[in-house]
Amino acid sequence: MEGKNTMTKKPFLTKEKVEEIAKTYPTPFHIYDEKQIVENARKMNEAFAWNKGFREYFAVKATPNPFILKLLQKEGCGVDCSSLTELMMSEACGFKGSDIMFSSNVTPAAEYKKAYELGAYINLDDISHIDFLKECAGIPETICCRFNPGGVFSLGTDIMDNPGDAKYGMTKEQLIEAFKRLKELGACRFGIHSFLASNTVTNEYYPILAGILFELAVEVKEQTGVEIAFVNLSGGVGIPYQPDKEPNDIMAIGEGVRKQFEKIMVPNGLGDVSIFTELGRFMLGPYGALVTKVLHEKKIYKDYIGVDACAVNLMRPAMYGAYHHITVLGKENEPSDHKYDVTGSLCENNDKFAIDRMLPKIDIGDYIYIHDTGAHGFAMGYNYNGKLKSAELLLKEDGSVQMIRRAETPADYFRTFDFCDILKGY
Ligand SMILES: *Cc1c(COP(=O)(O)O)cnc(C)c1O
Repeated sequence: MEGKNTMTKKPFLTKEKVEEIAKTYPTPFHIYDEKQIVENARKMNEAFAWNKGFREYFAVKATPNPFILKLLQKEGCGVDCSSLTELMMSEACGFKGSDIMFSSNVTPAAEYKKAYELGAYINLDDISHIDFLKECAGIPETICCRFNPGGVFSLGTDIMDNPGDAKYGMTKEQLIEAFKRLKELGACRFGIHSFLASNTVTNEYYPILAGILFELAVEVKEQTGVEIAFVNLSGGVGIPYQPDKEPNDIMAIGEGVRKQFEKIMVPNGLGDVSIFTELGRFMLGPYGALVTKVLHEKKIYKDYIGVDACAVNLMRPAMYGAYHHITVLGKENEPSDHKYDVTGSLCENNDKFAIDRMLPKIDIGDYIYIHDTGAHGFAMGYNYNGKLKSAELLLKEDGSVQMIRRAETPADYFRTFDFCDILKGY
């Protein structure tokens, strides 16, 4: 089967290529593979081509970089925003109106105002936001509401996630009430949205979610008489971070959703409804990597490899204990017979990219390639310990490398003191 993984993952860069890149752009850096991003986006669109109005709205929060947004825009994607700056970045990239979904929660008035002015599809997280939106901006003609079914969400016997514990969305009763009220206030086209489980590595998630939302759409139509314009399946289609896991098959997922559509929507006169998605991780995750250089080796009660990246560049392992596969570049074919903790330099003991990981013997100066950092990687960065965020690079289809964000400098870090003289000159 295509994309089938054995026990290893293949980097999209060689050691020689990294040595060449590092002459211009010192490590650490995040790098994205244009070719694979484009191929994957095309496959995504192909998988849902059966639905006339289908559109993927890339979740900007996953990789908020205008060069990446432009790349996806060329493939026909819209954007899913959830904050003012994400809306501003999207606007600057030329997204407008129906190119933008605004799926926020705990939304400030200024953000609704901006989304309204851009003509974005606004996705209300709560029934109380109807009056809030009306006050701060107005009720647009097309509007979406976010659904939370409560309880636990399972696939067969596996509990996938716990919507009953999640802060998002409205109950079914509230959603139906919300649609009636929005209709009174002048809205005439409606969307339904839900996000029930994150990083699902199964082809079943979207079809099951689609079944739930399609049945809800039928019920909403019967009870309110409103026109359902779209069903937004949101994010959550995942990627295999572990090398022994099978990746999702997006063609099978698209086909699974189509079957539900034909079973539930078409017989109920809803065959014209558009399907939207808001994927982040699936669109970018595997096509980005964090490249870092080994600075130190330390042997105490365990063996530590200290690298020039830290949790500031990639927070997922520190925050969630998330697994990210590691390749020691140039040693792809050597046996993994050494056990290491691979660590960053923060004064924080959770600043570890890997714990008790079996890897080839590592030497100072080796380049470490951390896989699958294309989504929710750079984006979650922060500045603890005064550490600076890295550059982002794009490996172009022709093999050249383009800087798509420069690395932070101390002056960037000190900029919020520019109202006074103390740090002037740094
Ligand atoms: C985070 C998020 C997404 C994207 O999630 P992925 O797991 O990256 O696919 C989509 N929609 C909303 C509302 C989100 O909060």
